[in-house]
Amino acid sequence: THELLLNSEKLNVAGQLAAGIAHEVRNPLTAIKGFLQLMESEGEGNKSYFDIIESEMDRIELILSELLVLAKPHELKFGPIDLISLLENVKTLIDTQAVINGIRIETKYNYQNFTINSDKNQLKQVFINILKNAVEAMPQGGFISIEVKQYGCNMVKIFFKDTGFGMSPEILKRVGEPFFTTKEDGTGLGIMISKQIIENHGGTINIWSDEQGTMIEVILPIASERLH
Ligand code: ADP
Ligand code: MG
Repeated sequence: THELLLNSEKLNVAGQLAAGIAHEVRNPLTAIKGFLQLMESEGEGNKSYFDIIESEMDRIELILSELLVLAKPHELKFGPIDLISLLENVKTLIDTQAVINGIRIETKYNYQNFTINSDKNQLKQVFINILKNAVEAMPQGGFISIEVKQYGCNMVKIFFKDTGFGMSPEILKRVGEPFFTTKEDGTGLGIMISKQIIENHGGTINIWSDEQGTMIEVILPIASERLH
């Protein structure tokens, strides 16, 4: 356990560093983009070069915005969050994209209330990352199920299952490594960031996958004021 703790502390420092760098890089990037747009509107230079520069800058921005989720701990606002409402909220966000891709999202909540002490936006980001991956794993359509169950007396388990193409053992082993992606336009940051956030909440993420699909289990502590 000692080694594990050290390891996650190390990750945390790396995460803070990444967030710091992301902040620093974003300002000059915004300035460059502004000038680029100006030059483009004045009709100087080669249109296809502008297009390349712009799409590469969009990519830098996407990576930065993902890294920024690992904001410095003092910027986090932890408070009581209703887990089911948050999941419903995220489901609504993803639903349009799911429907377009022929994917149905099914929820099993058992009508229980779970209050999590959390930074709402961070937890939301985790659920979005997981559900986006599920959608991206089902180009031919399929099912996603979200199930919430109490675990012991003070934990809750959230299961995300998809019927997508799954991961080979080799891929599964590498998932969560920074920048590891099998997608042409992936960043390979979603799972790493999600793991980091859940660990910051005192929880864990476990992943199972085969050619039938993928299951991601998120375990979180229930806020103590709601214990009975
Ligand atoms: P990205 O989505 O940008 O590739 P992630 O960290 O979110 O980065 O995921 C890393 C890799 O893990 C993906 O490229 C994919 O290979 C694999 N993966 C994650 N979730 C799933 C899933 N639900 N089904 C199949 N593969 C997945
Ligand atoms: Mg992803």
